[in-house]
Amino acid sequence: MGWPRIFLLFLCVAARGQQDFSAQFERIKAKATARQLYALLYELPKGGDLHHHGSLAAYPEEWLAAATNPQVLKGNRFYTRLRFLACPDSVEPFLRFHTIARFQWQQLSECAKAEYIALQEMSEPQRLEWLSAMRLDRRGEGREEFFERIVARLAALGRDPHVLLEVMARYVLRYSHEGLAYLETQFNPRNAVDERGQPVPVDEYVRLLRQTLERRELKSSGVTLRFLYPVIRFHPEAEKMVESAYAFVAQNRDLWVGLNLVGREDNDKGHALRFLDVFRAMRRKYSGVHLSIHGGEVDSPGREVRNTLLLGAERIGHGFNLITDPDTLLLLRHGRNLIEVCLVSNYLLEYVDHFARHPFVEYLRLGIPVSLNTDDPGVWESNLTDEYFLALRHFHLSWSEVVEVGLNSLEHAFLEPALKAQLIARYKSRIRAFEAKYSAPDWETKLNAVQPSISGFARRHLLVGAD
Ligand SMILES: [Zn+2]
Repeated sequence: MGWPRIFLLFLCVAARGQQDFSAQFERIKAKATARQLYALLYELPKGGDLHHHGSLAAYPEEWLAAATNPQVLKGNRFYTRLRFLACPDSVEPFLRFHTIARFQWQQLSECAKAEYIALQEMSEPQRLEWLSAMRLDRRGEGREEFFERIVARLAALGRDPHVLLEVMARYVLRYSHEGLAYLETQFNPRNAVDERGQPVPVDEYVRLLRQTLERRELKSSGVTLRFLYPVIRFHPEAEKMVESAYAFVAQNRDLWVGLNLVGREDNDKGHALRFLDVFRAMRRKYSGVHLSIHGGEVDSPGREVRNTLLLGAERIGHGFNLITDPDTLLLLRHGRNLIEVCLVSNYLLEYVDHFARHPFVEYLRLGIPVSLNTDDPGVWESNLTDEYFLALRHFHLSWSEVVEVGLNSLEHAFLEPALKAQLIARYKSRIRAFEAKYSAPDWETKLNAVQPSISGFARRHLLVGAD
């Protein structure tokens, strides 16, 4: 038999393998309990999480552990606001559990200082309240609670580089346990301050980051990390920030791969076309700085995605209202640009009132590349398994669609080509091993042996009343 025939035979066997598992996957979906399905998706090899805000990704327990650990704090200390005493210098807004660093606390009057307590001095009930204040876990909490309160409560913790890098190490390990291959997260290297409130020089910040990435547990986690530089889109100086972000990324290309525009899109000060001139100017100066930009994370119909593509975005964050813009929807069927879908985020921030009404599956089945992502999993108390669980439950994904979503997330990663090819090859071989494992008739026994880490979101929303 000549080589071409052997190759054809190989292709037939490979296609049959997928077809065989497709049927088995449908059998498992039909028979598995909710908990077994969760275990299956926890074990599923995953590609990349491409839409991820690095400072809102840690669970509240991880923040609290890092921010009360003297070895992490290196002399710093954090205080949280428990009560309001109407002091002349009481800080507005009156936000309970607003957490600040010692240098901020020291600037307050004795009266205002008494509104705060050191994190390690909280009682158990106070600790539980603090944890709850950092996540969307109560009825009625939504967009306002997230953007206007939780982000403010956590801001100072995310500016301490030691605390931020410690929680990053924790969540990378969590992702590793659910089979993630690649994390592209948003880190602003100019946001950090030291324990005296002085800006941490960017070189020092990068050195600390490299040191963390060298930790043995991270190197053996199987998760490759790259970073995007986030610019707050409605900031008065946002154009200048884009310029300095380009300069930084161009000098740190082994870790930072591009930029993102972040912050609520319903603030008109940050509309996409404001940035057209600056991105065009930057493209005249730099090559190879990638752009993933939030676009269409709004309630109203509109052309936000089209305008974001005009800025040069290769990937679109959310793309939620793309469904309302048929011309741009058709344009995206050419398949060059990926939509970073975040199901849990869009639900908790009230862009969609029921998962089944999310446009994700319309994009997927029109052939537009989509990936599933967690966005701010620390605040949702979610994980990537939850996103797959929702996609399966509400849109009945076939096996080939599940694999396609994972593959998309690697093919559209802003990773250097050789390493990307390696991650894709590894993903495919892990998928084959997964198919082999669960093709056997004893799949149920195997699933019952899996011990998934069930997220708080899943406990509250996905597995309520499950067996
Ligand atoms: Zn986002």
